[in-house]
Amino acid sequence: MFSPTEENYLKAIYLLTEKDSARAVATNELSAQMNTRAASVTDMLKRLADKRLIHYKKYKGVMLTTSGKSQALAIVRKHRLWEYFLVEKLKFQWDEVHAVAEELEHVKSEALIDKLDSYLNNPKFDPHGDPIPDRLGKLSASGFKNLTSLKVNEKGKVAAVIEQQPAFLKHLDKLHIHMSTPLKVIEHIAFDKSMTISINQTATVNISHEVAKNILITK
Ligand SMILES: [Zn+2]
Repeated sequence: MFSPTEENYLKAIYLLTEKDSARAVATNELSAQMNTRAASVTDMLKRLADKRLIHYKKYKGVMLTTSGKSQALAIVRKHRLWEYFLVEKLKFQWDEVHAVAEELEHVKSEALIDKLDSYLNNPKFDPHGDPIPDRLGKLSASGFKNLTSLKVNEKGKVAAVIEQQPAFLKHLDKLHIHMSTPLKVIEHIAFDKSMTISINQTATVNISHEVAKNILITK
């Protein structure tokens, strides 16, 4: 059994290396992510290393061990399944669920999580388009493309958002951009890298490069 704080560290290390699991995470990266002083991070890393959940060398950074990674995936699975449940069944908005899931992810009962998973029909992606690990820790490959990489007249549906702060999600709400919303590229504006897109075949708007690069698309 691990404490919620230990679980949060494992999850943070996992998320920082989600795109590149061979990378070591620096202590200061973790302290920024966890919003804590470097000294308390170091204490916690020693504890996790004693439990063989991470490889930790001073000045070299940390990596998850096989068992650390499977613990982290179990927490990520709970987090994303709860987010899916909150949006699909309890009708929370996509900008409201992360904070609630941060609490629910520490529930210990594996039976509860497996039942939740089958009750929801084993969803593969959460309400922000992040993959949900199955009970063995397996993730579905997404193959999503960045909106900025689409050519003029190319179409697709919103599959995921990279930035997930409530302020960004609310901004997308205002534009009527949600998961699965059909988008089509009208123009790439070279001057400021902004894009004109058509949303759901109804509105045509110009979005900044900052907004566009945080949206992932599927066919
Ligand atoms: Zn979340």
